[in-house]
Amino acid sequence: MEGMQQVVGRARAAFSSGRSRSLEFRMQQLKALERMVQEKEKEIQAALQADLHKSRLCAYNQEILIVLMELTMAMNKLLSWTAPQPLQRSVLTMWDKTYLHPEPLGVVLIMGAWNYPFLLVMQPLVGAIAAGNAVVVKPSEVSEHTARLVAEILPQYLDPELYPVVTGGVPETTALLTQRFDHILYTGNSTVGKIVMAAAAKHLTPVTLELGGKSPCYIDKDCDLAVTCRRITWGKYMNCGQTCIAPDYILCDPSIQSKVVENIKATLQEFYGADVKSSPDYERIINKRHFQRIVGLLEGQKIAHGGEVDEASCFIAPTVLTNVSPESKVMEEEIFGPVLPIVPVKSVEEAIEFINRREKPLALYVFSNNKQLIRQVISETSSGSVVANDVFVQFLVLGLPFGGVGNSGMGTYHGKHSFETFSHHRPCLIKDLKMEIMNQLRYPPQTQRKVDWAKFFLLKPFNKGQPRLVILSLLGIVVAVVAKEILGSWLSV
Ligand code: NAD
Repeated sequence: MEGMQQVVGRARAAFSSGRSRSLEFRMQQLKALERMVQEKEKEIQAALQADLHKSRLCAYNQEILIVLMELTMAMNKLLSWTAPQPLQRSVLTMWDKTYLHPEPLGVVLIMGAWNYPFLLVMQPLVGAIAAGNAVVVKPSEVSEHTARLVAEILPQYLDPELYPVVTGGVPETTALLTQRFDHILYTGNSTVGKIVMAAAAKHLTPVTLELGGKSPCYIDKDCDLAVTCRRITWGKYMNCGQTCIAPDYILCDPSIQSKVVENIKATLQEFYGADVKSSPDYERIINKRHFQRIVGLLEGQKIAHGGEVDEASCFIAPTVLTNVSPESKVMEEEIFGPVLPIVPVKSVEEAIEFINRREKPLALYVFSNNKQLIRQVISETSSGSVVANDVFVQFLVLGLPFGGVGNSGMGTYHGKHSFETFSHHRPCLIKDLKMEIMNQLRYPPQTQRKVDWAKFFLLKPFNKGQPRLVILSLLGIVVAVVAKEILGSWLSV
C-alpha cells in the first residue's frame, strides 16, 4: 500500500487547490455520495451481512437510511449553514460589520468503528464534505467486508484525491496518525481514544472522540412496564447489543425486577419468534474475540433468560441477568453484546448515586410517568445525552448534537453539528477608515479623562433585544456629536 505521507500529502495538495471550497463542488460531491449509496445499496447490504449477519432490511434501517437522511439534510441546508452569521452590534462595532464566516479546517481524518461500519464513516463524511474539507476515511479493519467495499466504491463516486480511503489495522492506523491533520473524528473505545488524542496533540490537532461506556437505564415503579420493556428490548438487542448507546444495564426496584424480565421475554418472542437464531432480524457478534469476551461476562451470573451461545456462528442469545452485584465483572466494562444485567436499587436516589460513582456515560435512560423524577435524574447526573421513556432515538434526531462527555468522549456531530465540528467559525470585523476621532480614546498618551470616557461608553449595562438596539442607536448619535464637538479638543488635555 502507498505510504500514508503520500495519501495525506495528496489530500492536502487537493485541498490547497481550493476546489473543495466552492458550494457547487460541495453540493456535487454530496449528490455523488447519495448516488453511491443508492446505486450500491445491494453491495453495502451484502458487506454488512458478511460482517455482522445484518439482514437486508436491518442494514437499510440501521445504516443506509440514516446516511441518506444526513445527506438530504446537508444538501437542503448547505446554503444556510455556509452563510455568514451576523453578530449583534456593540458600542465598539456600531459602524462596522461583524459576522462569523464558516471556513473549512483543511484535511480531516475520520476513523470509524466496526459496529455500524458503513454509517460511522459515512455520516461524519457528509458533514466534513459540506464544510468544504478534504477527508481521509479510515473504516475499521474489524468489519473487513465493509472496509473493503468503502475503499472500492468511494473513489468511483467522489474526488479520489480529496477523499481517499485508507484501510488496515493497528500498524497502518499508527502510521496514519503520525501525519498532520486539521481535525480528527474518531469513533471507538476509550483506550484507543487516548492513543488518537496523544497522536493529535503532537500537531495540536483538535479531536472529536465518539467513545462508549456503560449507559444506565433506570426504570421507575411508576411506569407502563410493557411499553418500557418493549422500547428497551428494541434498543438493547438491536445489532446484537453492539450499539454504543444501547442500555448497558437496568437499575430498578427489586419489587419490579421479575416483571421486567417477564416483559422483556414477551417482547423478545414478539420481535424474534420462538427461535431467535433463525430470525433474520437478529445479528451476530462481530468475531470470536468479542464472543469469548462476552461469554466470559456470564460466568457466575444468574441467567433469568437466554444464555444460549454458539461459538462457530458467534451467536449469543438475548440474555437477561438478575440480582447482579455492582462489583461483578459484567458491571465493570462496557458489555457491547446482548447481555442485560439488572441491578436492584431501592430508590431513585440510590440509582443516581450508583450512576454518579461511575464514569460519565454516553447515554442515560430513565423510564417513569413522574415528570418530577425525570427532572431530578437529569439535574443530578451527567451523560453525553439523556432520554426519558425511550432509548436510542436521540441518535436519529439529526437536530440533536451527538457525543459524549468525560470518559464517553468529547465534541459532537450529526446534521448541523457535523458542519460546525468540521468548520472554523472565523470572526470577521470589517471597519472603514472613517471616525478616526473615536480611536483617540485608545491611542496614547493615556489621560484620566480618556479612561473616564472609556468607562462611560463601555461599562454601561444593556438589556438584550430590541430596546438594546434603540438605546444603542441613540447612544451612537450622542457619541458622534460628543466626539465631534467636544472630544476632539478635550482628549488632547
Ligand atoms: P475498532 O476496533 O473498530 O476501532 C476503532 C478504530 O480505531 C478503527 O478504525 C481501528 O483501526 C482503530 N484502532 C484500533 N486500535 C488502534 C490502535 N492501537 N492505534 C490506533 N488506532 C487503532 O472499534 P472498537 O474500539 O472496538 O469500537 C467499540 C467501541 O466504540 C465501544 O466502546 C463503543 O461504545 C464505541 N462506539 C462509540 C460510538 C459513538 O458514536 N460514540 C459509536 C460506535 C462505537
